[in-house]
Amino acid sequence: MHKNFKGIEKTVFGRGAFAQLGDILNERRGDNDKFMVFVVDQYFKGKPLASQIPQKPGDVVMFIDVDKHEPTTEQIDAMRDEVLAKHGLPAGIVGIGGGSIMDIAKAASLMFTNEGSSTLYQGLNLIKKPGIYHVGVPTISGTGAEVSMTAVLTGPVKKLGLKCEWTVFNQVVLDPDLIASVPRDWWFYTGMDTYIHCVESENGIYNNVYSHAFAEQSMKLCEDVYLNEGSGQTPENDEKLMIASLMGGLSLTYSEVGVCHALSYGLSKILGTRHCYANCLAFNHLHDYYPQGVADFKKMLKKHNITLPQGLAKEWSDETITKMAEVSYNLPHMWNHAIGLDWKDKITLDTIKELFKRL
Ligand code: NAD
Ligand code: ZN
Repeated sequence: MHKNFKGIEKTVFGRGAFAQLGDILNERRGDNDKFMVFVVDQYFKGKPLASQIPQKPGDVVMFIDVDKHEPTTEQIDAMRDEVLAKHGLPAGIVGIGGGSIMDIAKAASLMFTNEGSSTLYQGLNLIKKPGIYHVGVPTISGTGAEVSMTAVLTGPVKKLGLKCEWTVFNQVVLDPDLIASVPRDWWFYTGMDTYIHCVESENGIYNNVYSHAFAEQSMKLCEDVYLNEGSGQTPENDEKLMIASLMGGLSLTYSEVGVCHALSYGLSKILGTRHCYANCLAFNHLHDYYPQGVADFKKMLKKHNITLPQGLAKEWSDETITKMAEVSYNLPHMWNHAIGLDWKDKITLDTIKELFKRL
């Protein structure tokens, strides 16, 4: 069976595109109880962008601190219950922020129309009804959350996405000016998530002409942003990075991630390490799996004076390493892709433990 996926319905791209958000929303303001909800990264509170939000009387604006924890099921349920009780059913929800805010907007959109706790819907195609109209406005680029069909939530039992066709945004507003203020280290780690998506997508059995075409172009853009002459945080490169993130995400949709993401999930789950940073920590030591990708990654680190910590594994007990390896081992789709359908003949829990010990 070939994958049959839904994409974003509408995309506007260009510097200053954020100014069009008001007109875009006006078309949908008559729906449901006729108000919009804006979920905005706390970083923008008091910044010029906050005063440019096209808010009308009756709209709800929430600033969310994404540094406290990654999006949780409890957080989404509480937000949904509060908005429904105080204001009714929104016409739409707009997320303005990074991957965390994208996931919050996508998940909340679905939970406004699906009863009960979001923990009931963590997994593939468990959502029963389409959500409300939802719009993504990314302010940091790299995770591809703006284009993916999942909204990753941490629940009491599992960290797993609400994944279905209705998760995908109805509208995305890509304004490269919005990512200009991203701190340099996050700019690097989050952008590298895209680069790693492409390297992994390309190197495995699910790669195909469709995923390859997106990965190739996305990697070219990443190299301009992080490696070639003229690299760095410039307005031109911000445009390139925003499109690289989108295309990296599309490449993945039609292929798979691999060894680096498998390890990174272990780090995030057991130690709480953030997704993009965890990927960088792991990828740095995967030269034997991705020789070219890791060699270029090291050049990029050097070019932008980014130092990754070494010797982390010395601080980890065997129990911690085993737990992380178990999380990784239980991602068979990633190992299938990266190693082949006979991966279990080649990769054991001990192999993965040894990989973690490299860190
Ligand atoms: P993030 O949203 O967690 O934000 C990282 C930091 O950057 C925060 O401190 C934030 O306040 C700050 N920030 C955001 N925009 C800024 C700006 N313009 N200027 C200054 N600071 C800014 O970052 P992320 O790495 O994009 O997202 C990580 C999250 O994405 C994780 O929760 C992960 O689970 C999720 N994720 C989702 C998918 C998906 O397909 N749904 C894929 C990968 C990761
Ligand atoms: Zn990733």
